[in-house]
Amino acid sequence: MIEVAALSKTFGENTVLRSVDLKVARGEVVALIGPSGSGKSTLLRCLNLLVVPDGGRVRVGELSFAFGSSARLPGTQALAKFRAATGMVFQQFNLFPHMTVLANVMEGPLTVRRMARPAAETLARSLLAKVGLSDKAEQYPSRLSGGQKQRVAIARALAMEPAVMLFDEATSALDPELVGEVLGVMQALAAEGMTMVIVTHEIAFAREVADRVVFLRDGVILEDGPARQVIDSPREAATQAFLSHFH
Ligand code: ATP
Ligand code: MG
Repeated sequence: MIEVAALSKTFGENTVLRSVDLKVARGEVVALIGPSGSGKSTLLRCLNLLVVPDGGRVRVGELSFAFGSSARLPGTQALAKFRAATGMVFQQFNLFPHMTVLANVMEGPLTVRRMARPAAETLARSLLAKVGLSDKAEQYPSRLSGGQKQRVAIARALAMEPAVMLFDEATSALDPELVGEVLGVMQALAAEGMTMVIVTHEIAFAREVADRVVFLRDGVILEDGPARQVIDSPREAATQAFLSHFH
């Protein structure tokens, strides 16, 4: 479903991704872990081209782009199509504050997918039901808790009917008592067979829900294996040292 090959990215003098290779199969859940500054967010952003790589290839489903000095950068339309295939959920929820919850979820289907309003509303309401927020449809985001806002953000991303969902520390900004409700929604999505890449510091969640755990350090994938194996008995000393902070 996702294939990244020889992906590289440099910001000024700072090389952030060094020839990263990563494959994610359809329905697979991959947790991306690693120290702060290791390039996790940059890698995730390259997967939906919020960050344009300097070199390498990125494929999601049928859509594939190559990067590098000789490669032609994707045009606006190709980029929009690619982004629509990859739903992204951020640490900060980025909801439209002047729109109701329902309108937030309907926005993508209406403007990007050009769905008719009744169909967009039906879709949005079914997604709000899925994330347990049917009763908040007419509220404004400012009236919601952080966990509720994040569940709306997930519903909004799902409304694009993406091929994959990307989560960048979706629970890091939440009060501890609100983390569980968001992880619960993510777990349900995983159980339904959604292809997901999750950047997270929730190691227990990664162990439980992810099929694979990928450990990134200094822009290099140091370890990539079955979730329980990587977390319970990492091969690399660096992975072990990183994980020891969570015990
Ligand atoms: P964290 O756990 O703190 O979120 P991370 O693993 O997600 O870290 P990235 O955000 O990918 O790390 O950042 C990797 C490096 O790239 C850091 O040194 C960061 O300062 C740099 N960086 C990221 N985005 C940009 C940007 N837009 N411009 C310049 N430098 C950037
Ligand atoms: Mg990050």
